[in-house]
Amino acid sequence: LFAQACTFMLGVVNLRGLPPMDQPEIVFAGRSNVGKSSLVNALTGRNTLARTSNTPGRTQEINFFDLAGRLRLVDVPGYGFAQAPKAKVEAWTDLVFAYLRGRASLRLACLLIDARHGLKTVDDGAMEQLGRAAVPFMVVLTKADLVRPLELERIVGAVRGGLRNRIGALAEPVLTSSRKGQGIAELRAILATYAAA
Ligand code: GDP
Repeated sequence: LFAQACTFMLGVVNLRGLPPMDQPEIVFAGRSNVGKSSLVNALTGRNTLARTSNTPGRTQEINFFDLAGRLRLVDVPGYGFAQAPKAKVEAWTDLVFAYLRGRASLRLACLLIDARHGLKTVDDGAMEQLGRAAVPFMVVLTKADLVRPLELERIVGAVRGGLRNRIGALAEPVLTSSRKGQGIAELRAILATYAAA
């Protein structure tokens, strides 16, 4: 599935622009600068998402990408960027939450967490929203190459603990490094199970 072309479908700024719910969808969410663009690019083997790290908070759209007509990858704006004007952050939250809540075709959220930092308070908010919207989610730890093995073990343990009483949290956090390719094949295999036949 991931060997096939991933193409940009459309970007939407309001609910009226959403595409029909005719393909299973997986949404990627996380704090600004968590490594979302890098991860989606590593998964799709191409430059699917432009790097946004230098202009945090600029992307206010929800972007839809098509994988072989069988699966849609959905990119929502990063949250928790400290310097973004509050009104703007809330506007994203409204659009993103409305999308999450009303989307029958949404099968899974990948919640990206920086492996150096683990779960932060702002991630609790995201998990709460996913829980309220009844969207199952898995934690994907990013930038694992920047953390030493022992520290990584500690962080994974803490993340597991943080997920224990969360509604909708699936299985184990997956460790990835877009830079080193770690965990990418594993994550592809998991995501592919959500594709339409
Ligand atoms: P986004 O804002 O969440 O889309 O994050 P980006 O993908 O733009 O990445 C933010 C920063 O983290 C960039 O400087 C990337 O080069 C860096 N980065 C992303 N993934 C990795 C990784 O797996 N390992 C390392 N060492 N750095 C990464």
